[in-house]
Amino acid sequence: MGTVIVLLGPPGSGKGTQAKRLVEELGIPHVSSGDLFRHHLSEGTELGKRAKSYMEKGELVPDDVTVDMVIDRISRPDCEEGVILDGFPRTLTQAEALDEELEERGQSITIAPLIQVSDDEVMRRLTARRVCEDCGAVYNLIFNPPEEEGVCDVCGGDLYQREDDNPETVRHRLYTYYKETSPLIGYYFARDLLVRIDGEQTVEEVHQDLQEAIKAAKEQG
Ligand code: AMP
Repeated sequence: MGTVIVLLGPPGSGKGTQAKRLVEELGIPHVSSGDLFRHHLSEGTELGKRAKSYMEKGELVPDDVTVDMVIDRISRPDCEEGVILDGFPRTLTQAEALDEELEERGQSITIAPLIQVSDDEVMRRLTARRVCEDCGAVYNLIFNPPEEEGVCDVCGGDLYQREDDNPETVRHRLYTYYKETSPLIGYYFARDLLVRIDGEQTVEEVHQDLQEAIKAAKEQG
């Protein structure tokens, strides 16, 4: 049975950054629902058109659309050995749909790490976030600026600011997180899958805590 990791935490808690680090070590893919939506948006697909207005407002795309998109992605052969989910599930309906899908395949969630970060820190991080257009590397103008302004250290691609990383939308995304997504903390706690991680440490320290928690969960499972 594969390793299924559900990364929980508010926007800006570092789920994407940490997921990318874990891919190398665990050899399983990183599936980010936000990245999938942004891909559809940039390709101008029907799904992208449906998702656009929700994303711009910092609201959740309806569950049926989201569940189909993510289940379709994790049904591909590269996810047979497991997957690192980032940004999905974000509602109880999505969490239940995921459980059902995994059960059908004889799989189950290994661990649901919750990366905890304060509201002030979320506001600070997201409004200073920049992302590489080409390779998706994430920078922060305050804590982790690129060597050359606007240029990715890794691949030389152009850096951009996500449209939903403005203060007003970030506040609304955080509101949406509390309202719709925070019930998942109880959902996974009840299943003994929740592990709280201090997300205000350095990227390396958070990574180490995650690694240890995942190792322990795999040994238990
Ligand atoms: P993210 O990159 O995870 O912050 O996601 C960006 C935006 O995509 C969110 O603000 C939502 O509008 C949408 N989105 C991403 N994942 C989901 C999800 N699991 N359910 C509903 N909407 C989502």
